[in-house]
Amino acid sequence: MIRNSTFAATGMPVSYTDHFNEIAQYNVQLNLLEKAWAAWYAYMQNDVLATGIMSFVMHELVYFGRALPFIIMDQIPYFQKYKIQAHKMPTLAEQWQCAKLVLLSHFTVELPQIWLFHPTAQYFGMSTSVPFPAWQTMAYQIAIFFVLEDTWHYWFHRALHTPMLYKKIHKLHHQYSAPFGLAAEYASPIETMILAFGAVGVPIVWAAVTQNLHILTMYTWIILRLFQAIDAHSGYEFPWSLHHVLPFWAGADHHDVHHEKFLGNYSSSFRWWDSVLGTEVGSASDKMAKPKKAAMAKAQ
Ligand SMILES: [Zn+2]
Ligand SMILES: [Zn+2]
Repeated sequence: MIRNSTFAATGMPVSYTDHFNEIAQYNVQLNLLEKAWAAWYAYMQNDVLATGIMSFVMHELVYFGRALPFIIMDQIPYFQKYKIQAHKMPTLAEQWQCAKLVLLSHFTVELPQIWLFHPTAQYFGMSTSVPFPAWQTMAYQIAIFFVLEDTWHYWFHRALHTPMLYKKIHKLHHQYSAPFGLAAEYASPIETMILAFGAVGVPIVWAAVTQNLHILTMYTWIILRLFQAIDAHSGYEFPWSLHHVLPFWAGADHHDVHHEKFLGNYSSSFRWWDSVLGTEVGSASDKMAKPKKAAMAKAQ
């Protein structure tokens, strides 16, 4: 990590901008984001705190920021035609209730764990320094994390549907049979820990084995995984949804049915595990297509 020696010598408190300008002056080869990143760590003078604050703020911004467009869409009748279970529109009161529990869990369960993240990441050899890795490196590592997390999620989510674990742990997540974006992390703390291992533990194991992982890659992966989880719970199926382009991508089309029927479709990002192991319970778009198909048959 680039440290700032001039300011340390004077002992004067300095602003983030001062750090940024000094780093920019002496490290012209770095791009803007790399300079901002290095300045943040130099300004904080405490890597555990720097990573902890950055991780927590990023998680909150992405989680609630990604859920917001869906909350707004729920209020606009135009979008109702894209809602998978349009007869069960979530009310604002219901969504606020859900947000409160999610926030409570973020502050009491996730925050202490996020604080442990930097020492753990460092212990297993994850890099926090600049320059950042090449985008190609980030891309292949994230693709591997998607596949491994999906596998972890499939087996542990399936296990959570065994009668005892369902009753004791997973039932809370199934409170909403017609899910919405904010409900993605509406779950018991035990479930959060079990399933989050796929998202957080897999990259840590990867770092330990390969000694080749940058924390920025980890952040990018977590952001994409959050987008995936919120989209999967959004309850919206659009003609431009990703699974129309990538047929093996799960999306809301796959997970909404899981919430509606309480079984099957156990994986997170992809469809292959459910398809190969016979736990697929259909897709929401198929179901939506049925009345249309029937109408077409009648018209002929
Ligand atoms: Zn479930
Ligand atoms: Zn769910």
